[in-house]
Amino acid sequence: SERPYIVGNWKMHGTRAMLSEARAIDRAAERLMKVEVALAPPFTLIHATRKEASLIGVGAQDCHAAEGGAHTGDISAAMIKDSGAGFVIVGHSERRADHGETDADVRAKAESALSVGLNVIVCVGETEAQRDAGEAEAVVARQLEGSLPQADGAVAKVTVAYEPVWAIGTGRTPTVEDIGAMHRAIRAKLVSLYGEDGASVRILYGGSVKPDNAGVLLAADEVGGALVGGASLTAESFLGIVAAA
Ligand code: 13P
Repeated sequence: SERPYIVGNWKMHGTRAMLSEARAIDRAAERLMKVEVALAPPFTLIHATRKEASLIGVGAQDCHAAEGGAHTGDISAAMIKDSGAGFVIVGHSERRADHGETDADVRAKAESALSVGLNVIVCVGETEAQRDAGEAEAVVARQLEGSLPQADGAVAKVTVAYEPVWAIGTGRTPTVEDIGAMHRAIRAKLVSLYGEDGASVRILYGGSVKPDNAGVLLAADEVGGALVGGASLTAESFLGIVAAA
């Protein structure tokens, strides 16, 4: 089967001083050919990270949906591509919460990214209240229906990241059984939305992935890799996860 895909999301962390971590991750990536490794640093470090690191993927954490225009402070997909990135994360729960992004916004961003030749990682995940109410699978299904790009050829360029909101930055994770059940439900949804090609879309798990739990979490059903926040900020902990993959 395909190589596991391990992506570090640096969120709003990182100045040029952190490029040494990216370099160390890239050096090790050479020895870890069995895993596909990528980092999503803040916009300000994309270009420098691309120059420092030649083997790993480099991407952005968000993009604006428009091609350009009067949107002070925003960054278009074309700018991200021009800075050296190969992919963009869209629909992260922190974007949905902090910036009120809707499923329709996320889809528009994803389609904009695809239109300039970037790959996309589309994030979905339920809150704790939604899980407690027994709605987790329904919430994620609705997010997928509304957020996934529909452009021709989209399916080949899309990765889904399942990140339960209550597991992000908390040290709590779902059980392996719960992750497997959700990933099987996501797989079924991908096939219903994209047809047979949906069977080959990678589905990452994200939320408190650490070196000591990565082996167990990554072995869950239909888990094709991990989207890692806090533990991606040092080469040591991120490479611990890569080694467990
Ligand atoms: P943590 O790994 O810090 O829980 O963050 C997960 C995440 O949100 C990655 O996008």
